[in-house]
Parts: sequence; C-alpha cells; structure tokens
Amino acid sequence: MKTNYRINEKGYYGDFGGAYIPEMLYPNVEELRSKYLEIINQPDFKAEFESLLKDYVGRPSPLFLAQRLSDKYGAKIYLKREDLNHTGAHKINNTIGQILLAEKLGKKRIIAETGAGQHGVATATVCALKGLECVVYMGEVDIERQAPNVARMKMMGAKVVPATSGSKTLKDATNEALRDWINNPVDTHYIIGSVVGPHPYPEMVSLFQSVISEETKKQLVEHTGKDQPNYVLACVGGGSNAMGMFYHFLDDENVKLIAAEAAGLGVNSGHSAATSVLGKEGVLHGSRTILMQTDDGQVVEPYSISAGLDYPGIGPQHAHLNKVKRVEYVSITDDEAMQASLLLAKMEGIIPAIESAHALAQLEKMTFQKDDVVVVCLSGRGDKDLATFMKYFNL
Ligand SMILES: *Cc1c(COP(=O)(O)O)cnc(C)c1O
Repeated sequence: MKTNYRINEKGYYGDFGGAYIPEMLYPNVEELRSKYLEIINQPDFKAEFESLLKDYVGRPSPLFLAQRLSDKYGAKIYLKREDLNHTGAHKINNTIGQILLAEKLGKKRIIAETGAGQHGVATATVCALKGLECVVYMGEVDIERQAPNVARMKMMGAKVVPATSGSKTLKDATNEALRDWINNPVDTHYIIGSVVGPHPYPEMVSLFQSVISEETKKQLVEHTGKDQPNYVLACVGGGSNAMGMFYHFLDDENVKLIAAEAAGLGVNSGHSAATSVLGKEGVLHGSRTILMQTDDGQVVEPYSISAGLDYPGIGPQHAHLNKVKRVEYVSITDDEAMQASLLLAKMEGIIPAIESAHALAQLEKMTFQKDDVVVVCLSGRGDKDLATFMKYFNL
C-alpha cells in the first residue's frame, strides 16, 4: 500500500498533528477549521491571492540556474529565489493568504507572535496593506536583539508588545498571543508564521506556501523539459518554506527530498536545534509532533546562529515525513552554514539568509551524477544577517 503523506480528515499526518488546545480556544480554532477550505477555494479569494502574489510580492520568483555552483558540484543547481520576494523571504506568501482569510471571516484585528521579528514584519506588512489593526507579541530579550525589525513593524503601524515572562523569547511571546486570542475570540485572527500550531494551521500554511513548488514545476519544464528534478533541498525551522518547496513533489517518489536542520555548535553540543535527531514525540504549540525536551517533558531551549531556525520542534507533517522516511533530515552546523553563505556570495553574487545557507551547505556533502538536477529553496536574503556576517568573518 502506498504511504499517505497528506493530512487525514481528523487533522493528522500519520501519528502527528491534531489540535491540543485549552477549552477556551476551541471556538476560535473550530471556526477556522470549519471554514478555511471553503474560503480559500472560492474563486474571488483565489483571484485576489494570486493578484497580490504577482503585483505586491513580485511572484513568480525566478528559478535561477547557478552556473558556477553547478560547475563546482558537477550537477545542475537551481535556486528558487524566495529571497527576491517583497520583505525578503517566503514568509509573506503565508501572511498574504491569512490576511485575506481574516477579511473573509470578518476579523478587524490581527495578532501574531514573532521570535527574530521576520514573521512579525511580514504580518505588519499585510496589516498595513489592508488597514487592519496589528498587535505583535515578542519576547523582551528578542526586542533588544532585533531592533531593526521592531522599527520596521512600528513604522508600518503595528503595536509591538513585549513578553516579559519565562525566558522572554519566542515561546513566551506565543503564550501571550494565545492569551490575547482567548480574550478576543470574535474580532481577532491569529496569524501563525510556520507549519506549526493546532490543526488547521499546519495544513493552511503549507497550502499558502505550496505556490513555491507549483511554480518550480512549471519553471523546471521550461529549463529542463521535465517537471521532476533529482533532488529538492530546503532548510527547516518550523518547516514552512520546506513544506512549500516539497508540497507538489511529495508523491513523485523518485524525487529525493532533503531538509536541513540547524545543528548549531554541533548536534551533541547542547546548543542546537536538530529536532529530527534529538527530538521525542510530544505536544508543542497545540499539535502532536517531535520536539527537543528533557526526560520529564520540559522544552529544551534551541540554539542556532540563524534566528529563523531557532525552534525546538518541527511541524507535524515534517514529523510524519521523517518517520516514514519520505524526506531525509540532515543537520548543518553554524560554521558550515556560514561558509556556504560566503561561497554563494563569492560564486553567484547572492548573499543568502543564514537559514537558507543551511540547505546550501548540504550540497558539500552530496555526490552527484553529471546530469542530476537539483533545486535548492533560497528562502530569504541575507540583508538582515549583515551584522552576524560582519562579526563572524571580521568584515
Ligand atoms: C523564518 C525563516 C525560515 C524558517 O522558517 P520555516 O517555517 O522553517 O520556513 C527560513 N528561512 C528564512 C529566510 C526565514 O525568514
């Protein structure tokens, strides 16, 4: 029997997924669950989503044959250029989808949580576009570390609320956002930024991000004459750019899918975010998945040099794809990712986000046949990481 990689009618991917939420959140999540598919399949929703992706985000993002990189690795290396999107990464695909959904649900107010601030910026952006009130919860520590993104959000009219409990980082901001949603169930939509959270969020976000692989297939036909490459690579924090990049290839069993996680200072260093290696099954942010936890179930603080991969779990669909071995999960250290960033800058004139460089770094570890076609999702651009590059390379 063929393995099923997709969601079932109960909101699970194999053993993972579901909606593990406090009773007080049930009406909010249930409203979304019962309406999201009908809304996003309406012709006027689709038309506006496509039109904003085209004229506001700048899609389709190019599929670029990186010639010098191809010569180096002995295969055809294509880069899917999500870094060229408005606001500099793939996250905007999802926030555009969710803001249109919020409008259709009659919501007047948007909340979000953010770690490094990238999802906060993408949310503030679409709220400004639509003239909706925007409140972003962010850990107090992150507010200090990520001042430019805080400034961007404020400039676009968002209110940034510090989360002052616990470690004052992403998980505390998530708790604050959930508390807000419980208190404002009628007028507020909560925009989650990755393929995580209670059902239907992981599925909904992957549908919005699936435009990445939809475009890639068409572009591959133009470039190579067929829509199936040999390998597709992407980095994984929560897993949204990877799910978008894999989505339309999942059932093409001869396409090898590879997801790169952040090993930080090393998988066994105690400072990493390598969930597929270190994680155990449990519940995180409202869904059953794998996460890094202590023996008594406390979430372990993740670490990565790239703020976007600094997450203690992976989305439930990734947990499933890992378990059934449809996707290979690999670990890339900070140093390997930094070297891959420098290599792409020097060889192709493209400075990638450090997150995306984790996927590029995997190329070093592979051996190719001459005619292999490889697609790497370049999830974002490196402008936001310039301070980290300057410090690391002493520029
Ligand atoms: C946020 C982010 C990621 C990680 O998020 P996913 O949901 O795993 O895609 C990766 N790359 C960039 C550029 C990001 O901003």
